[in-house]
Amino acid sequence: MISKIATTTALRAGARTFTTRATSGARTPSRFPLAFGAAAAVGAASLYMLPSVQLEGTPTMAGELSTTSERSFIMIKPDGVSRQLVGKIIDRFESRGYKLVAIKSVVPSADLTRQHYADLANKPFFGELLKYLTCGTPVIAMVWEGKDVIRQGRNMVGATNPAAALPGTIRGDYAVTIGRNMIHASDSFESATKEIGLWFNKQELAQYMSSGWAMTMEDN
Ligand code: UDP
Ligand code: MG
Repeated sequence: MISKIATTTALRAGARTFTTRATSGARTPSRFPLAFGAAAAVGAASLYMLPSVQLEGTPTMAGELSTTSERSFIMIKPDGVSRQLVGKIIDRFESRGYKLVAIKSVVPSADLTRQHYADLANKPFFGELLKYLTCGTPVIAMVWEGKDVIRQGRNMVGATNPAAALPGTIRGDYAVTIGRNMIHASDSFESATKEIGLWFNKQELAQYMSSGWAMTMEDN
């Protein structure tokens, strides 16, 4: 597994091509973008000598699903910032072993919020949700990386309604109402691809090796 991690990292350090396609297109088995980036990084001649793990899946802004390069978009909403819980939330993801690859404070515009929550536009609560996100208090937009981070991010955040969220989850520990549930986490690879592409450009996504990465991500 260490060699898989090392190889994936080496490739990702190269001129890898990302796509921000958000829907099923993001997972079509076209391998051209990765092959192209890898070729630029290691040279076409040696490309075919590398382990096949590099060519599994299709990379997007959310990395590659089910690999250590998988990424999720996590956002601390205005209530989390206002209540000064940013550090506690970041600590949970760091302590779990995930890697912070992008972070910024943003006062979201109505347009950005509408795009982010486009699938909820017809919900009765949408107007209030829009007001909440655009109240002027910043949100903390983040991209976290690591194996299974999308699913585990949802588990760590807990149920949408904090009244149903288990103790130990972020919403279960810090939030009370569904209208002020503190945090957002991508709910699928497609959502992560769309959301990371919406809030960040690819130059903002850092590629680096954290010191405990192999110890955390390797498996038997
Ligand atoms: N929301 C709300 N009232 C509802 C349902 C949702 O205010 O009855 C808000 C809440 O902030 C929630 C967000 O809309 O986090 C997005 O809803 P979704 O169903 O996608 O839940 P999530 O993915 O955040 O758990
Ligand atoms: Mg959602």
